[in-house]
Amino acid sequence: MTQAVQLMPEVEKFLQEPRKLLIGPEWVEASSGKTFATIDPARGDELTAVAEAGAEDVDAAVTFARKVVESRKWSGMRPADRGQILWKIADLIEGQKFELAQLEVLDQGKPMFMALAEMDIAISTFRYYAGWVDKHYGETIPSDGNMLLYSLREPMGVCAGIIPWNYPLIMASWKVAPALAFGNAMILKPAEQTPLTALKLGEIALEAGAPPGLLQILTGAGETGAALVEHPGIDKIAFTGSTEVGREIMRNAAESLKRVTLELGGKSPNIVFSDADLGTAANMSMYGVFLNSGQTCTAATRLLVEEKIHDDFVGSLVEASAKMKLGHGLDSETRMGPVVSAEQLDRVMGYVETGKKEGAKVISGGERGNGDLSDGFFVKPTVFTEVTPKMRIFQEEIFGPVLAVTAVKDVEDAINVGNDTQYGLAAAVWTSDVKKAHRVAAGLKAGTVWVNTYGIYDPTVSFGGFKQSGFGRELGRHAVEAYTQTKSVWVNLA
Ligand code: ADP
Repeated sequence: MTQAVQLMPEVEKFLQEPRKLLIGPEWVEASSGKTFATIDPARGDELTAVAEAGAEDVDAAVTFARKVVESRKWSGMRPADRGQILWKIADLIEGQKFELAQLEVLDQGKPMFMALAEMDIAISTFRYYAGWVDKHYGETIPSDGNMLLYSLREPMGVCAGIIPWNYPLIMASWKVAPALAFGNAMILKPAEQTPLTALKLGEIALEAGAPPGLLQILTGAGETGAALVEHPGIDKIAFTGSTEVGREIMRNAAESLKRVTLELGGKSPNIVFSDADLGTAANMSMYGVFLNSGQTCTAATRLLVEEKIHDDFVGSLVEASAKMKLGHGLDSETRMGPVVSAEQLDRVMGYVETGKKEGAKVISGGERGNGDLSDGFFVKPTVFTEVTPKMRIFQEEIFGPVLAVTAVKDVEDAINVGNDTQYGLAAAVWTSDVKKAHRVAAGLKAGTVWVNTYGIYDPTVSFGGFKQSGFGRELGRHAVEAYTQTKSVWVNLA
Protein backbone atom coordinates (compact mmCIF):
# COMPACT_ATOMS: atom_id res chain seq x y z
CA MET A 1 0.00 0.00 0.00
CA THR A 2 1.31 3.45 -0.81
CA GLN A 3 1.83 5.92 1.96
CA ALA A 4 2.64 9.28 0.42
CA VAL A 5 3.43 11.17 3.62
CA GLN A 6 6.50 10.47 5.71
CA LEU A 7 6.14 10.23 9.45
CA MET A 8 7.29 13.30 11.34
CA PRO A 9 10.42 12.68 13.46
CA GLU A 10 8.41 13.57 16.60
CA VAL A 11 5.89 10.85 15.74
CA GLU A 12 8.60 8.27 15.14
CA LYS A 13 10.20 9.17 18.43
CA PHE A 14 6.88 8.95 20.29
CA LEU A 15 6.33 5.45 18.94
CA GLN A 16 9.83 4.21 19.74
CA GLU A 17 9.22 3.67 23.44
CA PRO A 18 6.39 1.94 25.28
CA ARG A 19 3.95 4.58 26.48
CA LYS A 20 3.31 5.04 30.18
CA LEU A 21 0.46 6.22 32.40
CA LEU A 22 0.25 9.83 33.56
CA ILE A 23 -0.33 9.66 37.31
CA GLY A 24 0.18 12.88 39.26
CA PRO A 25 3.25 14.65 37.89
CA GLU A 26 4.87 11.56 36.41
CA TRP A 27 4.80 9.05 33.60
CA VAL A 28 4.86 5.61 35.16
CA GLU A 29 4.51 2.00 34.16
CA ALA A 30 1.42 0.12 35.27
CA SER A 31 2.00 -1.26 38.77
CA SER A 32 1.37 -4.74 37.36
CA GLY A 33 3.94 -4.09 34.61
CA LYS A 34 1.30 -5.07 32.04
CA THR A 35 1.14 -3.52 28.59
CA PHE A 36 -0.99 -3.96 25.49
CA ALA A 37 -0.29 -3.31 21.82
CA THR A 38 -1.90 -0.53 19.85
CA ILE A 39 -2.31 -1.38 16.18
CA ASP A 40 -2.31 0.47 12.84
CA PRO A 41 -5.64 -0.78 11.46
CA ALA A 42 -4.64 -0.04 7.87
CA ARG A 43 -1.81 -2.59 8.02
CA GLY A 44 -2.43 -4.68 11.10
CA ASP A 45 1.03 -3.74 12.50
CA GLU A 46 1.80 -2.94 16.11
CA LEU A 47 2.58 0.76 16.58
CA THR A 48 3.80 0.61 20.15
CA ALA A 49 3.11 -0.95 23.54
CA VAL A 50 1.00 0.95 26.04
CA ALA A 51 0.71 0.51 29.82
CA GLU A 52 -2.42 -1.22 31.05
CA ALA A 53 -3.69 0.46 34.19
CA GLY A 54 -5.17 -1.73 36.92
CA ALA A 55 -7.08 -1.02 40.12
CA GLU A 56 -3.91 0.06 41.98
CA ASP A 57 -3.08 2.63 39.33
CA VAL A 58 -6.64 3.91 39.42
CA ASP A 59 -6.31 4.29 43.17
CA ALA A 60 -3.04 6.21 42.85
CA ALA A 61 -4.56 8.56 40.26
CA VAL A 62 -7.63 9.15 42.41
CA THR A 63 -5.40 10.07 45.38
CA PHE A 64 -3.66 12.76 43.28
CA ALA A 65 -6.92 14.03 41.83
CA ARG A 66 -8.54 14.28 45.28
CA LYS A 67 -5.57 16.31 46.49
CA VAL A 68 -6.03 18.80 43.67
CA VAL A 69 -9.75 19.00 44.41
CA GLU A 70 -9.52 19.24 48.22
CA SER A 71 -6.67 21.76 48.14
CA ARG A 72 -8.74 23.95 45.78
CA LYS A 73 -5.51 24.45 43.86
CA TRP A 74 -7.49 24.52 40.66
CA SER A 75 -11.06 25.49 41.55
CA GLY A 76 -9.75 28.26 43.80
CA MET A 77 -7.39 29.67 41.18
CA ARG A 78 -8.31 33.08 39.72
CA PRO A 79 -10.73 32.19 36.91
CA ALA A 80 -8.76 34.23 34.39
CA ASP A 81 -5.63 32.22 35.22
CA ARG A 82 -7.52 28.95 34.79
CA GLY A 83 -8.77 30.22 31.46
CA GLN A 84 -5.21 31.03 30.40
CA ILE A 85 -4.13 27.44 31.05
CA LEU A 86 -7.03 26.05 29.00
CA TRP A 87 -6.22 28.51 26.22
CA LYS A 88 -2.57 27.44 26.37
CA ILE A 89 -3.65 23.80 25.97
CA ALA A 90 -5.44 24.84 22.79
CA ASP A 91 -2.36 26.72 21.56
CA LEU A 92 -0.12 23.75 22.22
CA ILE A 93 -2.48 21.39 20.37
CA GLU A 94 -2.41 23.85 17.49
CA GLY A 95 1.38 23.95 17.54
CA GLN A 96 1.55 20.14 17.34
CA LYS A 97 -1.42 19.72 15.05
CA PHE A 98 0.32 17.74 12.30
CA GLU A 99 2.09 15.46 14.72
CA LEU A 100 -1.14 14.79 16.61
CA ALA A 101 -3.03 14.23 13.36
CA GLN A 102 -0.45 11.70 12.19
CA LEU A 103 -0.73 9.82 15.46
CA GLU A 104 -4.52 9.80 15.15
CA VAL A 105 -4.29 8.48 11.58
CA LEU A 106 -1.89 5.71 12.55
CA ASP A 107 -3.84 4.66 15.61
CA GLN A 108 -7.40 5.03 14.31
CA GLY A 109 -7.05 4.58 10.55
CA LYS A 110 -8.87 7.73 9.46
CA PRO A 111 -7.68 9.85 6.52
CA MET A 112 -5.35 12.76 7.25
CA PHE A 113 -7.80 15.42 6.04
CA MET A 114 -10.23 14.28 8.71
CA ALA A 115 -7.64 14.01 11.46
CA LEU A 116 -6.54 17.59 10.75
CA ALA A 117 -10.13 18.84 10.86
CA GLU A 118 -10.61 16.97 14.15
CA MET A 119 -7.58 18.69 15.70
CA ASP A 120 -9.30 22.01 14.86
CA ILE A 121 -12.44 20.87 16.67
CA ALA A 122 -10.41 19.89 19.73
CA ILE A 123 -8.65 23.29 19.67
CA SER A 124 -11.91 25.21 19.38
CA THR A 125 -13.46 23.16 22.19
CA PHE A 126 -10.63 24.12 24.58
CA ARG A 127 -10.90 27.77 23.50
CA TYR A 128 -14.66 27.79 23.91
CA TYR A 129 -14.47 26.44 27.46
CA ALA A 130 -11.51 28.68 28.29
CA GLY A 131 -14.06 31.46 27.82
CA TRP A 132 -16.50 29.82 30.25
CA VAL A 133 -14.32 29.84 33.36
CA ASP A 134 -15.73 33.16 34.60
CA LYS A 135 -19.19 32.95 33.05
CA HIS A 136 -21.02 30.28 35.01
CA TYR A 137 -22.86 31.96 37.82
CA GLY A 138 -25.13 31.02 40.65
CA GLU A 139 -28.31 33.01 41.25
CA THR A 140 -29.84 35.25 43.85
CA ILE A 141 -33.37 34.20 44.65
CA PRO A 142 -36.18 36.64 45.61
CA SER A 143 -37.22 36.53 49.28
CA ASP A 144 -39.30 38.61 51.70
CA GLY A 145 -36.20 40.52 52.74
CA ASN A 146 -35.56 38.54 55.92
CA MET A 147 -33.46 36.01 54.09
CA LEU A 148 -30.68 36.34 51.60
CA LEU A 149 -31.07 33.39 49.25
CA TYR A 150 -28.48 32.50 46.70
CA SER A 151 -27.04 29.53 44.90
CA LEU A 152 -23.47 28.59 44.11
CA ARG A 153 -22.32 26.48 41.20
CA GLU A 154 -19.68 24.14 42.56
CA PRO A 155 -17.54 21.60 40.73
CA MET A 156 -18.47 17.91 40.97
CA GLY A 157 -14.94 17.11 42.16
CA VAL A 158 -13.07 14.22 40.55
CA CYS A 159 -14.47 13.22 37.17
CA ALA A 160 -13.54 10.22 35.05
CA GLY A 161 -13.88 10.45 31.27
CA ILE A 162 -14.24 7.11 29.49
CA ILE A 163 -14.12 7.58 25.75
CA PRO A 164 -14.36 5.55 22.53
CA TRP A 165 -12.02 5.04 19.59
CA ASN A 166 -13.85 6.77 16.75
CA TYR A 167 -12.81 10.41 17.31
CA PRO A 168 -10.16 10.07 20.03
CA LEU A 169 -8.94 13.64 20.53
CA ILE A 170 -12.34 15.23 19.92
CA MET A 171 -13.92 12.94 22.50
CA ALA A 172 -11.11 13.75 24.94
CA SER A 173 -11.59 17.50 24.44
CA TRP A 174 -15.39 17.32 24.82
CA LYS A 175 -14.87 15.83 28.27
CA VAL A 176 -11.64 17.38 29.52
CA ALA A 177 -12.25 21.01 28.47
CA PRO A 178 -15.61 21.54 30.25
CA ALA A 179 -14.62 19.41 33.27
CA LEU A 180 -11.54 21.57 33.85
CA ALA A 181 -13.25 24.84 32.97
CA PHE A 182 -15.86 24.25 35.67
CA GLY A 183 -13.23 23.50 38.32
CA ASN A 184 -13.01 19.68 38.34
CA ALA A 185 -10.08 17.28 38.10
CA MET A 186 -10.30 14.67 35.35
CA ILE A 187 -8.95 11.15 34.97
CA LEU A 188 -9.20 10.26 31.30
CA LYS A 189 -9.33 6.72 30.00
CA PRO A 190 -9.01 6.58 26.23
CA ALA A 191 -10.18 3.52 24.33
CA GLU A 192 -7.69 0.66 24.18
CA GLN A 193 -7.71 0.81 20.36
CA THR A 194 -6.68 4.49 20.23
CA PRO A 195 -4.73 5.66 23.29
CA LEU A 196 -2.03 7.79 21.64
CA THR A 197 -3.45 11.30 21.27
CA ALA A 198 -4.91 11.22 24.80
CA LEU A 199 -1.40 10.52 26.08
CA LYS A 200 -0.14 13.53 24.14
CA LEU A 201 -2.93 15.61 25.67
CA GLY A 202 -1.62 14.65 29.11
CA GLU A 203 1.85 15.95 28.15
CA ILE A 204 0.33 19.12 26.75
CA ALA A 205 -1.71 19.85 29.89
CA LEU A 206 1.39 19.63 32.08
CA GLU A 207 3.31 21.83 29.68
CA ALA A 208 0.46 24.35 29.74
CA GLY A 209 0.82 24.67 33.51
CA ALA A 210 -2.04 22.46 34.74
CA PRO A 211 -1.30 21.39 38.35
CA PRO A 212 -0.09 17.77 38.46
CA GLY A 213 -3.05 15.48 39.14
CA LEU A 214 -5.55 17.79 37.43
CA LEU A 215 -5.58 15.78 34.22
CA GLN A 216 -4.31 12.20 34.44
CA ILE A 217 -4.32 9.62 31.69
CA LEU A 218 -4.91 5.95 32.38
CA THR A 219 -4.71 3.66 29.39
CA GLY A 220 -6.28 0.23 29.40
CA ALA A 221 -9.35 -1.69 28.31
CA GLY A 222 -12.81 -2.19 29.80
CA GLU A 223 -11.40 -3.46 33.14
CA THR A 224 -9.59 -0.14 33.65
CA GLY A 225 -12.84 1.69 32.90
CA ALA A 226 -14.72 -0.56 35.29
CA ALA A 227 -12.16 0.12 38.05
CA LEU A 228 -12.77 3.85 37.61
CA VAL A 229 -16.54 3.37 37.77
CA GLU A 230 -16.21 1.37 40.97
CA HIS A 231 -13.76 3.66 42.78
CA PRO A 232 -15.46 5.50 45.65
CA GLY A 233 -13.15 8.52 45.26
CA ILE A 234 -14.60 9.43 41.87
CA ASP A 235 -17.63 11.72 41.86
CA LYS A 236 -18.71 11.65 38.26
CA ILE A 237 -18.40 9.49 35.16
CA ALA A 238 -18.67 11.03 31.71
CA PHE A 239 -18.95 8.20 29.21
CA THR A 240 -19.19 7.99 25.45
CA GLY A 241 -19.49 4.55 23.87
CA SER A 242 -21.91 1.75 23.17
CA THR A 243 -25.37 1.53 24.71
CA GLU A 244 -24.50 -1.87 26.14
CA VAL A 245 -21.44 -0.61 28.05
CA GLY A 246 -23.38 2.54 29.03
CA ARG A 247 -25.97 0.36 30.74
CA GLU A 248 -23.28 -1.56 32.59
CA ILE A 249 -21.61 1.66 33.73
CA MET A 250 -24.92 2.98 35.03
CA ARG A 251 -25.53 -0.23 36.94
CA ASN A 252 -22.03 -0.22 38.47
CA ALA A 253 -22.13 3.49 39.26
CA ALA A 254 -25.37 2.98 41.17
CA GLU A 255 -23.46 1.39 44.07
CA SER A 256 -21.70 4.66 44.96
CA LEU A 257 -24.41 6.86 43.39
CA LYS A 258 -21.95 8.55 41.07
CA ARG A 259 -23.22 11.21 38.73
CA VAL A 260 -23.25 9.80 35.24
CA THR A 261 -23.65 11.30 31.79
CA LEU A 262 -23.92 8.88 28.89
CA GLU A 263 -23.51 9.58 25.20
CA LEU A 264 -24.36 6.26 23.58
CA GLY A 265 -25.13 4.65 20.27
CA GLY A 266 -27.30 5.81 17.40
CA LYS A 267 -29.04 4.64 14.27
CA SER A 268 -29.80 8.00 12.77
CA PRO A 269 -32.56 8.40 10.19
CA ASN A 270 -31.67 10.62 7.25
CA ILE A 271 -34.92 11.52 5.49
CA VAL A 272 -34.90 12.70 1.88
CA PHE A 273 -38.02 14.10 0.23
CA SER A 274 -38.43 14.54 -3.51
CA ASP A 275 -38.54 18.35 -3.23
CA ALA A 276 -34.98 18.54 -1.79
CA ASP A 277 -31.84 19.70 -3.58
CA LEU A 278 -31.15 16.09 -4.50
CA GLY A 279 -27.57 16.52 -5.72
CA THR A 280 -26.44 18.02 -2.43
CA ALA A 281 -28.58 15.57 -0.46
CA ALA A 282 -27.01 12.55 -2.21
CA ASN A 283 -23.48 13.79 -1.67
CA MET A 284 -24.00 14.75 1.96
CA SER A 285 -25.93 11.56 2.72
CA MET A 286 -23.01 9.58 1.35
CA TYR A 287 -20.54 11.44 3.57
CA GLY A 288 -23.01 11.31 6.44
CA VAL A 289 -22.84 7.53 6.52
CA PHE A 290 -19.40 6.65 5.17
CA LEU A 291 -17.20 9.34 6.71
CA ASN A 292 -14.86 7.78 9.29
CA SER A 293 -15.82 4.41 7.75
CA GLY A 294 -19.25 4.66 9.33
CA GLN A 295 -17.75 4.74 12.82
CA THR A 296 -19.62 7.80 14.01
CA CYS A 297 -22.37 7.65 16.61
CA THR A 298 -24.43 10.09 14.54
CA ALA A 299 -23.72 8.34 11.21
CA ALA A 300 -26.62 8.59 8.77
CA THR A 301 -27.05 4.84 8.73
CA ARG A 302 -30.75 4.72 7.85
CA LEU A 303 -31.66 6.47 4.62
CA LEU A 304 -35.42 6.98 4.46
CA VAL A 305 -36.13 8.15 0.95
CA GLU A 306 -39.45 9.18 -0.57
CA GLU A 307 -40.76 6.32 -2.72
CA LYS A 308 -40.98 8.18 -6.00
CA ILE A 309 -37.30 9.19 -6.08
CA HIS A 310 -35.96 6.04 -4.42
CA ASP A 311 -34.17 4.43 -7.37
CA ASP A 312 -32.65 7.61 -8.82
CA PHE A 313 -31.52 8.91 -5.45
CA VAL A 314 -29.94 5.66 -4.35
CA GLY A 315 -28.25 5.45 -7.78
CA SER A 316 -26.62 8.88 -7.28
CA LEU A 317 -25.51 8.00 -3.78
CA VAL A 318 -23.92 4.75 -4.91
CA GLU A 319 -22.20 6.57 -7.76
CA ALA A 320 -20.76 9.11 -5.32
CA SER A 321 -19.65 6.37 -2.91
CA ALA A 322 -17.74 4.60 -5.69
CA LYS A 323 -15.40 7.61 -5.70
CA MET A 324 -14.49 7.20 -2.02
CA LYS A 325 -10.90 6.07 -2.34
CA LEU A 326 -10.00 3.48 0.29
CA GLY A 327 -6.45 3.43 1.56
CA HIS A 328 -3.95 4.27 4.27
CA GLY A 329 -4.92 7.49 6.02
CA LEU A 330 -1.50 9.02 5.42
CA ASP A 331 -2.00 8.79 1.66
CA SER A 332 -3.42 12.19 0.65
CA GLU A 333 -5.78 10.62 -1.92
CA THR A 334 -7.50 8.47 0.71
CA ARG A 335 -11.08 9.38 1.52
CA MET A 336 -11.95 6.35 3.64
CA GLY A 337 -9.72 4.30 5.92
CA PRO A 338 -10.19 0.87 7.49
CA VAL A 339 -12.43 0.09 10.44
CA VAL A 340 -10.55 0.30 13.71
CA SER A 341 -9.76 -3.33 14.54
CA ALA A 342 -9.96 -6.96 13.46
CA GLU A 343 -12.81 -7.38 15.94
CA GLN A 344 -14.74 -4.49 14.39
CA LEU A 345 -14.12 -5.92 10.92
CA ASP A 346 -15.69 -9.22 12.00
CA ARG A 347 -18.61 -7.42 13.55
CA VAL A 348 -19.30 -5.34 10.43
CA MET A 349 -18.95 -8.31 8.05
CA GLY A 350 -21.22 -10.28 10.38
CA TYR A 351 -23.91 -7.62 9.96
CA VAL A 352 -23.46 -7.70 6.18
CA GLU A 353 -24.22 -11.43 6.27
CA THR A 354 -27.17 -10.85 8.60
CA GLY A 355 -28.61 -8.24 6.22
CA LYS A 356 -28.37 -10.66 3.30
CA LYS A 357 -30.03 -13.44 5.29
CA GLU A 358 -32.80 -11.13 6.40
CA GLY A 359 -33.66 -10.49 2.75
CA ALA A 360 -32.21 -7.03 2.19
CA LYS A 361 -30.44 -6.49 -1.13
CA VAL A 362 -26.76 -5.45 -1.36
CA ILE A 363 -26.45 -3.05 -4.26
CA SER A 364 -22.86 -2.01 -3.67
CA GLY A 365 -19.90 -3.09 -1.53
CA GLY A 366 -20.69 -5.87 0.89
CA GLU A 367 -17.12 -7.09 0.97
CA ARG A 368 -13.69 -6.46 2.47
CA GLY A 369 -11.07 -4.39 0.74
CA ASN A 370 -8.90 -6.65 -1.42
CA GLY A 371 -5.50 -6.57 -3.15
CA ASP A 372 -3.33 -3.95 -1.51
CA LEU A 373 -5.85 -3.51 1.26
CA SER A 374 -6.14 -7.09 2.42
CA ASP A 375 -3.72 -6.76 5.37
CA GLY A 376 -5.81 -3.95 6.88
CA PHE A 377 -9.35 -3.93 8.22
CA PHE A 378 -11.02 -2.39 5.18
CA VAL A 379 -14.70 -2.70 4.28
CA LYS A 380 -16.06 -1.30 1.01
CA PRO A 381 -18.88 1.25 1.30
CA THR A 382 -21.93 -0.97 1.45
CA VAL A 383 -25.51 -0.12 0.52
CA PHE A 384 -28.50 -2.31 1.33
CA THR A 385 -31.92 -1.56 -0.17
CA GLU A 386 -35.31 -3.13 0.63
CA VAL A 387 -34.57 -2.82 4.33
CA THR A 388 -37.58 -3.06 6.65
CA PRO A 389 -37.88 -1.97 10.29
CA LYS A 390 -37.97 -5.58 11.47
CA MET A 391 -34.45 -6.27 10.24
CA ARG A 392 -31.46 -6.12 12.57
CA ILE A 393 -29.55 -3.99 10.06
CA PHE A 394 -32.32 -1.39 10.48
CA GLN A 395 -32.42 -1.60 14.28
CA GLU A 396 -28.85 -2.18 15.48
CA GLU A 397 -25.82 0.04 15.46
CA ILE A 398 -23.21 -1.54 13.17
CA PHE A 399 -20.44 1.07 13.44
CA GLY A 400 -19.11 0.40 9.98
CA PRO A 401 -19.68 1.64 6.41
CA VAL A 402 -23.09 0.04 5.96
CA LEU A 403 -26.16 1.95 4.80
CA ALA A 404 -29.72 0.64 5.16
CA VAL A 405 -32.20 2.19 2.70
CA THR A 406 -35.97 2.14 3.27
CA ALA A 407 -38.61 3.79 1.07
CA VAL A 408 -41.15 6.05 2.82
CA LYS A 409 -44.45 7.47 1.55
CA ASP A 410 -44.87 10.86 3.18
CA VAL A 411 -44.09 13.02 6.21
CA GLU A 412 -46.05 10.91 8.67
CA ASP A 413 -44.57 7.67 7.44
CA ALA A 414 -41.05 9.17 7.55
CA ILE A 415 -41.50 10.29 11.18
CA ASN A 416 -42.90 6.91 12.25
CA VAL A 417 -40.23 4.87 10.50
CA GLY A 418 -37.58 7.37 11.62
CA ASN A 419 -38.53 6.90 15.28
CA ASP A 420 -38.82 3.13 15.08
CA THR A 421 -35.59 2.18 16.89
CA GLN A 422 -34.39 2.27 20.51
CA TYR A 423 -32.02 5.11 19.62
CA GLY A 424 -32.52 8.86 19.42
CA LEU A 425 -29.16 10.52 18.90
CA ALA A 426 -29.47 12.44 15.64
CA ALA A 427 -31.58 12.72 12.50
CA ALA A 428 -31.77 14.77 9.33
CA VAL A 429 -34.38 15.90 6.86
CA TRP A 430 -33.86 17.14 3.32
CA THR A 431 -36.65 19.22 1.75
CA SER A 432 -37.19 22.67 0.26
CA ASP A 433 -40.57 22.97 2.02
CA VAL A 434 -40.12 24.92 5.25
CA LYS A 435 -43.31 23.60 6.82
CA LYS A 436 -42.38 20.01 6.11
CA ALA A 437 -38.88 20.56 7.54
CA HIS A 438 -40.24 21.90 10.83
CA ARG A 439 -42.93 19.23 11.11
CA VAL A 440 -40.36 16.51 10.71
CA ALA A 441 -37.89 18.21 13.08
CA ALA A 442 -40.66 18.41 15.70
CA GLY A 443 -41.74 14.80 15.18
CA LEU A 444 -38.36 13.12 15.38
CA LYS A 445 -37.20 11.89 18.75
CA ALA A 446 -33.54 12.81 18.54
CA GLY A 447 -31.10 15.04 20.41
CA THR A 448 -29.94 16.71 17.19
CA VAL A 449 -31.85 17.32 13.96
CA TRP A 450 -30.11 18.65 10.88
CA VAL A 451 -32.19 20.28 8.14
CA ASN A 452 -30.63 20.28 4.67
CA THR A 453 -27.22 19.46 6.06
CA TYR A 454 -25.56 16.61 7.95
CA GLY A 455 -23.03 15.93 10.66
CA ILE A 456 -22.02 19.43 11.70
CA TYR A 457 -20.99 20.24 15.24
CA ASP A 458 -19.82 23.27 17.12
CA PRO A 459 -18.65 23.68 20.71
CA THR A 460 -21.43 26.26 21.19
CA VAL A 461 -24.21 23.78 20.36
CA SER A 462 -25.22 21.13 22.90
CA PHE A 463 -25.10 17.49 21.94
CA GLY A 464 -26.61 14.32 23.41
CA GLY A 465 -29.25 11.67 23.08
CA PHE A 466 -32.94 10.92 23.48
CA LYS A 467 -34.15 7.42 24.40
CA GLN A 468 -31.39 4.79 24.64
CA SER A 469 -28.83 7.08 23.05
CA GLY A 470 -28.13 8.36 26.54
CA PHE A 471 -28.67 11.40 28.73
CA GLY A 472 -26.92 14.55 29.76
CA ARG A 473 -25.67 17.10 27.27
CA GLU A 474 -22.13 17.87 26.21
CA LEU A 475 -20.92 21.11 24.66
CA GLY A 476 -22.54 24.52 24.80
CA ARG A 477 -23.87 25.95 28.04
CA HIS A 478 -25.53 22.65 28.98
CA ALA A 479 -22.15 21.19 29.93
CA VAL A 480 -22.41 23.39 33.02
CA GLU A 481 -25.12 21.02 34.26
CA ALA A 482 -22.94 17.99 33.60
CA TYR A 483 -19.88 19.24 35.47
CA THR A 484 -21.23 21.33 38.35
CA GLN A 485 -23.69 20.97 41.20
CA THR A 486 -25.82 23.65 42.78
CA LYS A 487 -25.59 24.64 46.43
CA SER A 488 -28.43 26.73 47.88
CA VAL A 489 -27.47 29.12 50.67
CA TRP A 490 -30.00 30.60 53.16
CA VAL A 491 -28.75 33.59 55.15
CA ASN A 492 -30.97 34.74 57.98
CA LEU A 493 -31.01 38.56 57.95
CA ALA A 494 -33.69 38.98 60.62
P1 ADP B 1 -17.29 0.61 21.27
O1 ADP B 1 -18.50 -0.27 21.20
O2 ADP B 1 -17.42 1.90 20.58
O3 ADP B 1 -16.00 -0.13 21.15
P2 ADP B 1 -17.35 0.51 24.06
O4 ADP B 1 -18.63 1.00 24.59
O5 ADP B 1 -17.06 -0.93 24.03
O6 ADP B 1 -17.22 1.18 22.68
O7 ADP B 1 -16.15 1.21 24.79
C1 ADP B 1 -16.06 2.60 25.02
C2 ADP B 1 -15.12 2.85 26.17
O8 ADP B 1 -15.61 2.17 27.32
C3 ADP B 1 -13.72 2.30 25.96
O9 ADP B 1 -12.81 3.22 26.53
C4 ADP B 1 -13.74 0.99 26.72
O10 ADP B 1 -12.47 0.57 27.15
C5 ADP B 1 -14.61 1.35 27.90
N1 ADP B 1 -15.28 0.22 28.56
C6 ADP B 1 -15.62 -0.99 28.03
N2 ADP B 1 -16.24 -1.76 28.95
C7 ADP B 1 -16.31 -1.03 30.09
C8 ADP B 1 -16.85 -1.25 31.41
N3 ADP B 1 -17.46 -2.39 31.72
N4 ADP B 1 -16.75 -0.26 32.32
C9 ADP B 1 -16.16 0.91 32.01
N5 ADP B 1 -15.63 1.18 30.81
C10 ADP B 1 -15.69 0.23 29.85
